[in-house]
Amino acid sequence: MSKPALRVRIYGARGSYSSTSNHGTSFGVNTTCFRVDLGEQILIVDAGSGIINCGGELLKELQRERADRAEWPVYLLFTHMHIDHLAGLPFFAPLYSPKSDVHFIGPQILDYKLEEAVRTFVHPPFFPVGIEDLPFRANFHEMAENKAIYLYKDRFELRPLIEKIEPDWLSRITSMRNYTHPKGGSFFYRFETAAGAILVIATDTEGFAGGDQRLIKFAKGADILLHDAQYDPGEYGMMQGFGHSTYEMACEVAEKAEVKKLVLVHHDPRYDDEKLRAIEKKARERFAQTLLAVEGMELTL
Ligand SMILES: [Zn+2]
Ligand SMILES: [Zn+2]
Repeated sequence: MSKPALRVRIYGARGSYSSTSNHGTSFGVNTTCFRVDLGEQILIVDAGSGIINCGGELLKELQRERADRAEWPVYLLFTHMHIDHLAGLPFFAPLYSPKSDVHFIGPQILDYKLEEAVRTFVHPPFFPVGIEDLPFRANFHEMAENKAIYLYKDRFELRPLIEKIEPDWLSRITSMRNYTHPKGGSFFYRFETAAGAILVIATDTEGFAGGDQRLIKFAKGADILLHDAQYDPGEYGMMQGFGHSTYEMACEVAEKAEVKKLVLVHHDPRYDDEKLRAIEKKARERFAQTLLAVEGMELTL
């Protein structure tokens, strides 16, 4: 059976920190991590605690399905470096295999390049060993709005957008810097296949009155939009400026960008099932094709 052109799997639907409550966890407890498969290529967006389950499953899959290959390339994209998007990284199982060829791809945030942030975090005194002590191969690439990632059957290239590229790529990833997340912003990603399937991930963002016009343009016509909706509108007033949205903000963007399906992510860890189901119901009244992300959810295009 051939693989779908694009598949996204949710491994972490929460934001800020992993839910600590014993009740209401059917949406999952883990923080941000999404696996995106583009044909044969495996990409993971963010390394919140969700990447621990993701990595465990992935390593078994690679051992089972790609045992004959010398290397296992995995592309790890980061939206930004906040702890809820990074805390699971040292426990990502493929880092402990010498066959793993991990490409870390992300923006510079404030004065920190992605490589500095990763090497600082996965290192004593924060972690017992540094990434240089682990057996996998690490490669670092700086993403920027003026670059695109082009994926081919067995390789990838990060090239300036302005360059003329032969149209033989299988999929392409572009980015947008979001300025509404303190203090250094976050990156949104747009994944598109040569056949025209589009997934946009826009987490850790706070909406604007009338909708974020840059994001509306960036997400235009997407088949699936994953959008931050951490706060209930009733609570938003207290949380204004924290860099997160309400479902109303997400729905407005989805509607104006004419996306086919909206998936709300980065659920507040304090919200139980009852609260989240109420949010989903209200969101569907606003934008019918809305789902709340649940750990284990899988969407294909
Ligand atoms: Zn976050
Ligand atoms: Zn954040």
